[in-house]
Amino acid sequence: MNAFALTEDQIAIRDMAQEFAAETLAPHAMRWDEEKHFPVEEMRAAAALGMGGIYIQDDVGGSGLTRLDAALIFEALSTGCPTVAAYISIHNMCAWMIDRYGSDEQRRRLLPKLCTMEHLASYCLTEPGAGSDAAALKTKAALDGDHYVLDGQKQFISGAGVSDIYVVMARTGEAGPGGISTIVVEKDTPGLSFGANEKKMGWNAQPTRAVIFENCRVPVANRLGPEGIGFKIAMAGLDGGRLNIGACSIGGAQGALDKAIAYAKERKAFGSAIADFQALQFKLADMATELEAARTLLWRAAAALDAKTPDATKLCAMAKRIATDTGFEVANDALQIHGGYGYLADYGIEKIVRDLRVHQILEGTNEVMRMIVARGLVGRAKGN
Ligand SMILES: Cc1cc2nc3c(=O)[nH]c(=O)nc-3n(C[C@H](O)[C@H](O)[C@H](O)COP(=O)(O)OP(=O)(O)OC[C@H]3O[C@@H](n4cnc5c(N)ncnc54)[C@H](O)[C@@H]3O)c2cc1C
Repeated sequence: MNAFALTEDQIAIRDMAQEFAAETLAPHAMRWDEEKHFPVEEMRAAAALGMGGIYIQDDVGGSGLTRLDAALIFEALSTGCPTVAAYISIHNMCAWMIDRYGSDEQRRRLLPKLCTMEHLASYCLTEPGAGSDAAALKTKAALDGDHYVLDGQKQFISGAGVSDIYVVMARTGEAGPGGISTIVVEKDTPGLSFGANEKKMGWNAQPTRAVIFENCRVPVANRLGPEGIGFKIAMAGLDGGRLNIGACSIGGAQGALDKAIAYAKERKAFGSAIADFQALQFKLADMATELEAARTLLWRAAAALDAKTPDATKLCAMAKRIATDTGFEVANDALQIHGGYGYLADYGIEKIVRDLRVHQILEGTNEVMRMIVARGLVGRAKGN
């Protein structure tokens, strides 16, 4: 890509994901939300098209694509269902952590089934007492011979209970980020259990549960990289994760904007289509402009992450905040344009608003995104 145009390959990748979203996700998205159904078979169909290991190396079944390609894919998938797209993005983030930091043996053992999504993955960082301050996590992994014994609890884990692979950040050493290691825990390990599926505002097509470790013995061979670099692995995963979640917001909002434009052309008030009113036209123009600005920054951040530039983390944080704030605002404006009908489930708009709201909270809240950006401007704030 030059700075302003996609290549033919990128357009083909985006179109493929868009077609999949329109045919396989969109027709069922509202029912999945209502029934709280996690569409595993449909996600495996996405993986068969290369979307289970988008930026995973191809020797283990990955697609070997770039972060920018991934952003195009997640935006397109999200036009069908932001919740399913977002889970696939978390799965990809976990697979990448194994690809990047795992040994050859770990990569060959774990990644082929993750790339096909025969196995699903969950990212386990947050704890009841450690969300934004993730480095304060307390889940303990005590060394005992050639095993770690895990005790503690993770909170709000997407996919938990269904996923086969749990990428867990646990404390193997001193307090703070330097005492954290990343350990892969497989689903049937004794001592691993799950809380109830949380009742939530949106993201209903994927489960969210606590993950509980009680005397849970995991082979040392499942640790990614050396002891003590787990926080670094977790944050590196989130750079890309934040781009993907931002892309999911843009895709969901684009879907809502498209619906709003179509609705405004049809809906009559005061003797004409509401799209004829300039106040509404200006609203649509602002929505489209702000979405395009967010998309442009997101693509720039993706290109920086691909190029591993020193400012990539900062750009990913900037892009995540803008994309998720803008995405929510645009979806909410699209609801307003639908009037009372926007508030009804049948029109599909209120679901998008509910789904996109959480993107401002997870993978680092948008306040945490500001902290990351501000650190580069004025240094760390007191206590952070
Ligand atoms: C549906 C859902 C799915 C999730 N999936 C996962 C998952 O798969 N894996 C996972 O590990 N986690 C997951 N999370 C957890 C999510 O990442 C956390 O909720 C998030 O990081 C915030 O942590 P917290 O909820 O503990 O809020 P807190 O950290 O308690 O924050 C509360 C408020 O204080 C603000 N705040 C905190 N510190 C500061 C500061 N220094 N300056 C300014 N403001 C501050 C926050 O921005 C926020 O507004 C999920 C959450 C939800 C809701």
